[in-house]
Amino acid sequence: MTAQPLIPPTDKPLSLADYDPSYVGQWTKKAARSELKNLQARLRQLQERLYAQGSQALLIVLQAMDAGGKDGTIKRVFEGVNPQGVTVTSFKAPTEEELAHDFLWRIHRHAPRHGYIGIFNRSHYEDVLIVRVNQLVPESVWQARYDHINAFERLLTDSGTRILKFYLHISKEEQRERFQERLDNPEKHWKFSLGDLALRQHWNDYMHAYEDAISRCNTSYAPWHIVPANRKWYRNLVITQTIVETLEAMNPTYPSPEPDLDKVVIPD
Ligand code: ATP
Ligand code: MG
Repeated sequence: MTAQPLIPPTDKPLSLADYDPSYVGQWTKKAARSELKNLQARLRQLQERLYAQGSQALLIVLQAMDAGGKDGTIKRVFEGVNPQGVTVTSFKAPTEEELAHDFLWRIHRHAPRHGYIGIFNRSHYEDVLIVRVNQLVPESVWQARYDHINAFERLLTDSGTRILKFYLHISKEEQRERFQERLDNPEKHWKFSLGDLALRQHWNDYMHAYEDAISRCNTSYAPWHIVPANRKWYRNLVITQTIVETLEAMNPTYPSPEPDLDKVVIPD
């Protein structure tokens, strides 16, 4: 098996068909699970330092087709991390008030403050995905958005926020199986929506929209990662690895203590 890049090369056109959603590299499930535990322990420590330092933030953007595993990723990757330092925002169809503003208005206010990890479950990318496929605005409007997104992400970066974007890549067949499980298991019925089937019919249009979103917004400061996501254990491993590496590069440090702490006597 040849290695599959996580960040797609920017010097050639992107075709998602070239990316195997079942790719697991050299990993076995057992090894991946135990490595995940190690990585999660490091993630906990790094998150605590990020919070204590309070001068940098990390924004994680999750995008996927329905049943792609965004919810499961958030649940598994961040288990054990102090919830006080993490914000999760799930972006649904915009309200009337949100639609009466520019498309980034509702997004920007949820960008994580310094010291925090912010997770976007769906994001501003919906405005060049479902909005494009369902023709919710004219093409001239969504075409202009890629540049707006790059400028917005540059702004966040310049303000101390690191950005990691993950596209959870599942196959159409895997989506079918996950939908079927939602139908078969009464505890998962609530997750099933007939509307999801309508979107599935436009699978190829979505793949093209993703290809454009990923290649046009795959910047050095806010890279896209194409995560093989048919195997949940591999998906969790890859995402956790990437987050840990990024936090290590950000190298958050504890702020210096007040002077002469060693002379402090706690009064009775
Ligand atoms: P689950 O995976 O649990 O179903 P979900 O994220 O799919 O969660 P839903 O309420 O089922 O949540 O779906 C949210 C819907 O809102 C999606 O179909 C998404 O494409 C749509 N949406 C999000 N942002 C926009 C937007 N800017 N314009 C139009 N639709 C949007
Ligand atoms: Mg849904």
